[in-house]
Amino acid sequence: MNTRGKTVWAALAAAALAATATGCTSHDTGSPTSASSAPAASPTPSLNFQAGAAGIGDPYYPTYGNGGYDVASYAIKVKYDPKTNRLNGDVTVTASATADLSTFNLDLRGMTVRSVAVDEKPATQTRTGNELVITPDHGLATGVKFTVRVVYDGVPGSVTDPEVGKMGFFHTADGAFVVGEPESASLWFPVNDHPQDKATYDVQITVPAGLTAISNGVQGPQQTEAGWTTWKWSESKPMASYLTTLAIGDYRVVNSTHKGKPVVLGVTKQLAKGAADTSMSHTVAIADYLESVFGAYPFDSYGGVVVKDDDLHFALECQSRPVYSAGFFRRGVNDSVVVHELAHQWFGDSVSVKTWQDIWLNEGFASYAEWLWAEHKHESTAQAIFDNVYKNSDASIWRTPPAKPGKKELFGDSPYDRGAMALHALRKAVGDKAFFEILKKWAEQKADGVATTDEFVTLAEQVSGKQLDSVFQAWLFGTKKPAKP
Ligand SMILES: [Zn+2]
Repeated sequence: MNTRGKTVWAALAAAALAATATGCTSHDTGSPTSASSAPAASPTPSLNFQAGAAGIGDPYYPTYGNGGYDVASYAIKVKYDPKTNRLNGDVTVTASATADLSTFNLDLRGMTVRSVAVDEKPATQTRTGNELVITPDHGLATGVKFTVRVVYDGVPGSVTDPEVGKMGFFHTADGAFVVGEPESASLWFPVNDHPQDKATYDVQITVPAGLTAISNGVQGPQQTEAGWTTWKWSESKPMASYLTTLAIGDYRVVNSTHKGKPVVLGVTKQLAKGAADTSMSHTVAIADYLESVFGAYPFDSYGGVVVKDDDLHFALECQSRPVYSAGFFRRGVNDSVVVHELAHQWFGDSVSVKTWQDIWLNEGFASYAEWLWAEHKHESTAQAIFDNVYKNSDASIWRTPPAKPGKKELFGDSPYDRGAMALHALRKAVGDKAFFEILKKWAEQKADGVATTDEFVTLAEQVSGKQLDSVFQAWLFGTKKPAKP
């Protein structure tokens, strides 16, 4: 995520987006609703079958995600009518039980659930806050593969964080789009909403003919029938739920291929053709540079979408299709934000956080990529940027450890700027050769998975052959300004 539209070192676009992010903590609890689907046979749980946990175990967000199963894939079919803002959804989740389950949860905010079936048999469902609690007509034994089909509809909503602003499902004049972190998926489909449970996605979006509908991954065949067009997208690499996106409306779309992979670049027609289009057109060149530093580009497609809504103040690294607020390009071409979101394709998307407290593994790396890009373009050096940030950062950055920022500072300056400084301090400690080998190995070893700060520390020590406790303690965990390396 990029909420700033600026870096400390480059005044460029500094005022373009006034928002400085400090956390992502506001959540609409919604009003609990309860509804039952078609009458199901009474569950006959064995004594050992128990309810799956209502959270996946994230210390900052205990109710995010769910326990007891692992999702392999989502097949999402939605129909959206911009005239009414209503979305009709029909989602099939394919998962495996990781415990003996009598009931289990999916995350879903708002929306009205019309029916739930497990393995094609009607199941009982209740709503508690943002949890959809599902009781199948039979217990699910550990290791068993099962499907859950949920049919639902409603007007999808958003949440507002006092610092980051509005996120989730945005209804625009010409359509809608979805963007939000740490979670946005549960606002428009039932999901195990946490990066720990990555899955593949097939997304079908039916919209009035004439509108464009973009999502993640590779585009499939398009169908138009009775005034409605169905767009098909598929992301075949495991994806964290918050990286799913949807952009519906009037877009200028440029399709091409790069290294045999499709490139999909979209800019809302609410913007006159200009800086946003030019910035998007730099996507593959920037991805190629990052590939030279981080290793092979991790996904099967490239892209980017520029959306416009006065309440959107950030860009997000949606997998293979980052979403940028139009505001980033208000003052001209902005490569830095593209570098940031594309760097996340490696760090954040392919290598995802196991728990949200490790957010610096995403934001420190994406911020450092901007420094590397400036060095690559001979605009500055990583050292000069480090010196500037070290000298000019607000005192709060030194009180906030990037590897344990606390929920309120999740998207504050520390995981971004001090996270990048931590990487630069590591680079100084181990030398360029070992440093860039660490970055490449990290991207390779953890590809398509989740990772922790401890694992990064271990890898850095392995590759460099150095004991690095003091470096990481000072830069990632300390609460005082470290000595300049
Ligand atoms: Zn970011």
